Amino acid sequence: MSDIHQDISRVLISADEIQARIKVLGEEITVDYQNEDIVLVCILKGAFLFMADLCRHIRVPVNTEFMAISSYGHSTESSGVVRILKDLNESIAGRNVLIIEDIVDTGLTVSYLEQLLEARKPNSIRICTLSNKPQCHKTPVQIDYCGFILPQEFVVGFGLDYRDYYRNLPYIGVLKPEIYQK
Ligand code: 5GP
Repeated sequence: MSDIHQDISRVLISADEIQARIKVLGEEITVDYQNEDIVLVCILKGAFLFMADLCRHIRVPVNTEFMAISSYGHSTESSGVVRILKDLNESIAGRNVLIIEDIVDTGLTVSYLEQLLEARKPNSIRICTLSNKPQCHKTPVQIDYCGFILPQEFVVGFGLDYRDYYRNLPYIGVLKPEIYQK
């Protein structure tokens, strides 16, 4: 039987750590948006697990929206080029938008998305990411909520993929080098 856990060389953030941190982020967001409501914009595919867990710790009213964008293709380096594969269903004009991302690496994707959504005249727009690699940023990006700071390494799990696999790992980890040679 093939087992995806066997392809991991190191677990960087355990499932328990992820869940505990998401709970704290949900509580912070609840406090910050008191007496308001939020449109959570999940950036697919990577943020689907994070969004699902996070929204259950937010106690102010939320709408959930999904935007699908093209990622790296089969490379592990950012091209900075983002293609919208699926746009939002509803208008965000006058709403409080919270962008939910899996990871900020160069920052090019999230800053592009922020500009794109800003043009639609929301009342406010903030960024919430499960993880961040600040040493890799190529553009200034203001992150309002961040789960974890990661080292400069390619990681998989908890929504993050390699060739669209490994998103279902309950933790964040590093693949064994031989996996890239397949
Ligand atoms: P950025 O535009 O900030 O460089 O990249 C954002 C996107 O690149 C993320 O949404 C994610 O899809 C992908 N990405 C960046 N770093 C990693 C990583 O370490 N692992 C995985 N699986 N994807 C990454």
